[in-house]
Formats: sequence, structure tokens, C-alpha cells
Amino acid sequence: MIYQHLIRQNSQWERLVGAFHNGRLAHAHIFHGPPGSGKQAHAIELAALVNCHNPGDDGACQVCPSCAKFHTLQHPNLEIVVPLPRRVAITKDDPALKALKPSDLAQLVEELALKAADPYHRIQVDGAQSILINSVRDIRRGIRLTPAEAGWRSFLIFEAEKLCAPNPTAANALLKILEEPPPRTLFVLVTDRVQLMLDTIRSRCLGLHFPPLPPEQVAQYLTEQAGVGQQEAGILAQVTGGNLPQAQLLSGEDDALSQGVEQLLAALLTPRPKGWQTLVDRLVRQHNLHPVSQMIVGKSFRGQRRLQKGNVGNADLGVPGSHQNRTRVQTCREICKSDRIGGRRQVQPVCRRHQRKIVLIDGQVGLCLCNGGAAPTGKEER
Ligand SMILES: [Zn+2]
Repeated sequence: MIYQHLIRQNSQWERLVGAFHNGRLAHAHIFHGPPGSGKQAHAIELAALVNCHNPGDDGACQVCPSCAKFHTLQHPNLEIVVPLPRRVAITKDDPALKALKPSDLAQLVEELALKAADPYHRIQVDGAQSILINSVRDIRRGIRLTPAEAGWRSFLIFEAEKLCAPNPTAANALLKILEEPPPRTLFVLVTDRVQLMLDTIRSRCLGLHFPPLPPEQVAQYLTEQAGVGQQEAGILAQVTGGNLPQAQLLSGEDDALSQGVEQLLAALLTPRPKGWQTLVDRLVRQHNLHPVSQMIVGKSFRGQRRLQKGNVGNADLGVPGSHQNRTRVQTCREICKSDRIGGRRQVQPVCRRHQRKIVLIDGQVGLCLCNGGAAPTGKEER
């Protein structure tokens, strides 16, 4: 394995390695599943395996010249395709990277280095909304060339659903390549949202689902790799539903925020709704809707009960894209504590007291956006 600290998804990985050793590895795969389940890293591991000079039952050998290049993601047979911004007008014959400004290019290089070091790092270039058609044209040109080294030419397309946005031009161009790939060519399309992929693409790829990581493994990773205390690691693993990068992100926040998270979670785990509401008020006021607020805004008493039962997923936390993350207009009765505004079914687009917009939260707590989401001041309380 290339990544020493990757939490291996055993059944998926054994299936891939077995298919490779039996000569039955599909030429195109879609790795799909929730964020933070290690799909991208497993795609890199697969590309390393098919290029390794001494592939074993566990995967790539780690030590051969090919594996050495995979450790830095610099192997000539490896192409990682990610969404990119289009900063500069380019022609259809230009390479995709020509659409970037030098600062974007520098960021991309840095992101790839981070990915080489951390299997759970998500490569992001500012302003990238879609996979450029020129990136697919680059693949088409590259696929015709003889591989620089023995092995499989491997194309890993991350956030592959963005082949289809804002229009399916890039996806359709890829389709033609997937129909008749040359021998010893590997495509792995990686996506959190397989439902957004074109059926025509999906039908040409072997789908492999990567489930969320078990919380206990996430907690162990946080403890051993990020130096997070056991108790905090356990809570973060549970709360993020096995989303390791999100748990890492929360554990990396400053001490005050970490303490706030711990206090919040402790409150959530006790049957004292008012206690945790007070905490929510304070955290939102202090941290102005940063990652913690993602948890807060999606959290409800229903979610609290599920948390107490150990059954909490991203949707409960308001993670972007989850079904419970939709903003609803609500009264801000809990925050404003105004009897006049209160009302179970009342739908009020603005807070009557503050005349400002109100946002969510799942029918339980509303945040008035006055003062950046802070609770009203004493004067307003009257
Ligand atoms: Zn090797």
C-alpha cells in the first residue's frame, strides 16, 4: 500500500486486488460513497498496484521504482483529473492547465503534494466548478501515447460528477473514450454523488460503493495520526458519522472552538434541551457560523435523540448536500424568546423584532441573522 495510514476498506480492496491478480480487472470503475470514506486514496492505491513491479496480495509493494514515484504522485502513468477554474480563454487544442493563472497552478501543485501526504486530503483549486472539456481532451491525447513505463496508464477523475456540470459536454467526450479504451488502461471515476452521473457513463463502469468508515476506526486514526485526545476523538468520530476529513477539520480548530464543540456535544448527549440551546447561542455568537455551525444548524432534538442512540449521520449535521441541510424559513422564537413571534406552524420570512432574515433550523431553533447570527442583545430583549 502506498498510504501507510489509509484505513483500508477491506472488502472493496480485496475484490479489486483479486480481480487484478486474476486478470479480470475492469478497465473503468466508479468509486462512490459518502465523503471521507477513502475512495480517492483507494483509487490511487489501485493505480499504484497495476503499475507496481512486485504487486502482492495486499497491494503495491511500496519499494519498487514505480511505487517510489507513486509516493509523490509523480508517476508518468498516473493522471489525476480534478475540477479546474477557467481563468483564461483557451482553444479546444490547448491543455486544460493553460486555462489557469500561475497562482492557480501553484495551488494545484501544492494540493497534489498535500494529497500525496494525506490520503484524506481533498484537492481543491479556488473557483473550480467543473471538470473542463479540455481535461478530457488531454486524456484523449494521452491515451494514444505509448506509456512512458511498463504498467497501466491510469486516469483518476476526482469529483467525477462535475463532468456533468454545468453541462454534460465533458461527460459525453469521456464516454467516447470509455467505449473503446486501449489495453492496459485504467479509469477510476470517484464521486460522492453518483446519482448525478450520466447513466451512459455509469453503464460503462464497474460501480464500487465505499461505505462510511466505522467511527471507532476514525477515532483511532484521530488519536494516532492527529494527536487528538481519546474522548474528543470518539465524540468527533460519532458526530461526523465516519467522515474522517470532517472530523480532522473539527479537531484542528482552535482550543476555544474545540472546547465549545466538546461542551456542545456533552450537552447534546444529556436530556437537557435548554442547556444545549444556550450553548448553541454562545458558539454561533463566538464563531460566526464556522464549521461548528454546520453541526449546529442541522442539529435538532430529533437528531439529539439519534445521537444519544449512536445513530447519527452527516444529514443530521447539516453537512452540505445532505437532505436535511435545506434552509427553511422559520420563526426565531427560540433565539428571540418572543412570545409574540412564537407559534408552531408560523412561517415568517423575517424576524419581526429585527426585521432581518431568519434561517432554519429543522423546526427547532431559528437563527436571526442580526449581528451575524448572534442572539439579540439585552436592549433588544427588553
Ligand atoms: Zn511496487
